Amino acid sequence: MRRTLIAGNWKMNGSFSANHTLLTGIIAGLPANDAVDVLICAPAPYLTQCAEVLGDSRVAWGGQDVSAHTHGAFTGEVSAGMLADCLCKYVIVGHSERRAYHAESSELVAQKVLQALAQNLIPVVCVGETLEQRENGATNIVVAEQLQAVLDVLSADQLINIVLAYEPVWAIGTGKTATPQMAQDVHAFLRSQLAVKNAEAANAVQILYGGSMKPENAKELLAMADIDGGLIGGAALKAMDFLAIISAC
Ligand code: 13P
Repeated sequence: MRRTLIAGNWKMNGSFSANHTLLTGIIAGLPANDAVDVLICAPAPYLTQCAEVLGDSRVAWGGQDVSAHTHGAFTGEVSAGMLADCLCKYVIVGHSERRAYHAESSELVAQKVLQALAQNLIPVVCVGETLEQRENGATNIVVAEQLQAVLDVLSADQLINIVLAYEPVWAIGTGKTATPQMAQDVHAFLRSQLAVKNAEAANAVQILYGGSMKPENAKELLAMADIDGGLIGGAALKAMDFLAIISAC
């Protein structure tokens, strides 16, 4: 049985004071049972603040990106070791905004996944198609290619240590959500691709949906068989909305 993971991706938002309000609000409103895993992926300068405020709670924290290198002359980069130093448990890898605005190839994303795993971080590997690709009927081809680059560098045993996120680019920050069935179809396809590498692990890997998930649509999406949680942008910036999504599980 896969656990549900609700992850907030704050993207480039926040300040010490706003974060404090948001984090304490989330902790205060968490359901008493621990049926759902909760994660916050904050900008790197705020990860130590997450450690301070979330340290005693059951909310995990993580980075939004990681370098493909271990250390050295890579100005501006943050290594997996540094994220581990900030007691991160997870890191987002291959978000479409990194792929689009920073020209990250699937091969680079795969190297980042290896860096994360080497530091015992759980990489949240993002895949997703653009609107044009969907309209051309290329969704499965695109996500399969993105996933395959990662599968190519992993051993069958390592598969169990990743989380996958399907984030259709056209649904991110647009208010347009994939219908539960559209998302389910891609999730099931992704799981079938994982199964080629390791059938047992494929059954255990959490596949999150991301793209305008909000309190109003979370329940329906999360009810689908292969949707194991959410990767939430905008709605993760308000404690009330984020908590409502957690409660929808
Ligand atoms: P929105 O929830 O704002 O659409 O963002 C989704 C996302 O990109 C999460 O990584």
